[in-house]
Amino acid sequence: MASTRDYYDILGVPKSASQDEIKRAYRKQAVKVHPDKTGGDDTKFKELGNAYETLSDPQKRAAYDQFGADGPQGFPGGGAGGAGGFGGFDFNGAGFDFSDILNQFMGQQGGGRRQQQGGRDLEVGLTIEFSEAVFGTEKTITLDLDDVCTTCHGNGAKPGTKLKTCETCKGAGQVTRVQQTILGAIQQQSVCPTCNGRGEIPETPCEVCHGSGVKRRRRDIKVKIPAGIDNGATMRLSGEGATRKGAKGAKGDLYVQIRVKADRKFVREGNNILSEATIPMAQAALGIDIPVVTVDGEVTLKIPAGTQSGKVFKLSGRGVPSVHGHGRGDHLVRVTVETPSKLSGRQKELLEEFMNESGHKKGFFKR
Ligand SMILES: [Zn+2]
Ligand SMILES: [Zn+2]
Repeated sequence: MASTRDYYDILGVPKSASQDEIKRAYRKQAVKVHPDKTGGDDTKFKELGNAYETLSDPQKRAAYDQFGADGPQGFPGGGAGGAGGFGGFDFNGAGFDFSDILNQFMGQQGGGRRQQQGGRDLEVGLTIEFSEAVFGTEKTITLDLDDVCTTCHGNGAKPGTKLKTCETCKGAGQVTRVQQTILGAIQQQSVCPTCNGRGEIPETPCEVCHGSGVKRRRRDIKVKIPAGIDNGATMRLSGEGATRKGAKGAKGDLYVQIRVKADRKFVREGNNILSEATIPMAQAALGIDIPVVTVDGEVTLKIPAGTQSGKVFKLSGRGVPSVHGHGRGDHLVRVTVETPSKLSGRQKELLEEFMNESGHKKGFFKR
């Protein structure tokens, strides 16, 4: 959740805090909010635990500093498409390669390797209309991507032939290189260049993909966009990303970052929609029904007699549906009362009469 409190704030330490300081702060706070204690707080205790778990691990802490609690899924983007005016479907052919970020996020432990063996995550931007964001829509994204070869199903072997153990790495998928440095010999593990980490290679390569298991293909991907989605939200389409050499047919995920076009009539604020209405002075004083254009179409708003400029009226349930599927926001109309800037002789007369009736004098201000 983007709205969760900052882990450093929870622990009450500065961003520059040492591991020792973090540990001490955690112990101190944990004693205070422990649910077994009077005045303890289960939620706070859990929150504290989460914060400590992340900040006490240098790798997780580095990822948190870079991406926040959500990890790279919450990555605010500027990925594919960027600011470019692609209109409609907004993407670049290959998509944005997320694997670098994921590798960084997951560090070297296991996760990094999994990423190399699994598919490739992609990110694309998708621009939709304001009303599409309000009511939901379905879009098709067309991508040129590295897809699984359908002839060999990604294993790279000609149909009917087998895979054999890779001789370079003896099936380990990794090779160890020893490098001499001023600090001594350093062992470095890297992905086997012969089998790309699989540990096995085809006896007879597939003729379609030449043994890579990968075929570049144009794919139409349907994206169901839920009602209520907001600008900047990222959807994750599991298994709709690309594959890569050595992935044995595994596919990554596709991240679709939603951009919502601005609307001329409406402004969105959370799940509420804001709009403006201007009404003449006399009608504000006497009361009037005005038509208001909402996302559901035109509705009538009753402006009661004596309405002041700046007053906000609520049209309940005429806002944006909750993206989680329960309830809708409201439509809020801010009224501006218009003072006439040109008066006919008769209007002037009437207003002066009105002024006298109110007990005010021309040229004097008195409440
Ligand atoms: Zn193939
Ligand atoms: Zn190998």
